[in-house]
Amino acid sequence: MVTRLHVDWTACDGRGTCTELLEEVLVEDDWGFPTARDGSPQPVVPEGLEQAAQHAVDRCPLLALRLVRD
Ligand code: SF4
Repeated sequence: MVTRLHVDWTACDGRGTCTELLEEVLVEDDWGFPTARDGSPQPVVPEGLEQAAQHAVDRCPLLALRLVRD
């Protein structure tokens, strides 16, 4: 099973909390919105970072971030 991060762009306001908490996977774009370091629209959460990813999801103030498992 692969865990990915999904950002709801209709809800995200680009405050950047998630990029600070999960800098291994996310980086801010020029406008402060989170984007994947690997360029993927739904970046894979590497093994060992699932807990950090869940923490970032839990800390998103606008509930714009979620984990997708497939
Ligand atoms: S924490 Fe949530 S609202 Fe803030 S940049 Fe990340 S996804 Fe967007």
